[in-house]
Amino acid sequence: MTAPARGTVGGREFGTRVEELRGIAFSALEQAYAPYSSFRVGAAILADDGSVGAGCNVENASYPAGMCAERVAVGTLASRGVRRFDLLVIATEADSPTPPCGICRQVLAEFAPALPIISITRSGAEARWSLADLLPSPFSPHFLHHA
Ligand code: ZN
Repeated sequence: MTAPARGTVGGREFGTRVEELRGIAFSALEQAYAPYSSFRVGAAILADDGSVGAGCNVENASYPAGMCAERVAVGTLASRGVRRFDLLVIATEADSPTPPCGICRQVLAEFAPALPIISITRSGAEARWSLADLLPSPFSPHFLHHA
């Protein structure tokens, strides 16, 4: 059995967009504001219209006010009116690829419950998940609409 092509994620072919998102995520990481944790994170989300949203973590002296890179990236696209996402790439300098935190999983699930996620590190390690596996039972708009 051969490994899937690097541009194939979750059974979908993204071609060179995966490499593009890797570069954008690491560029965003360079802008991270992480004076407290020193844990820099960059994220790049590909939208279904082909646009890309980038984000970095933005910490705060009031620790809970800090924002994760994933949510900043979602906000970047949402502020452009984009609501449908196809792929998320997370970049860190950790030893092992890190999944999104619980809050980010919930925010991502609002727009793309089965979002393919790639997490990469400086050292070249990589992990891939579907958001549906990381957060199988999100609180969804369904529960608010009494559908
Ligand atoms: Zn998070």
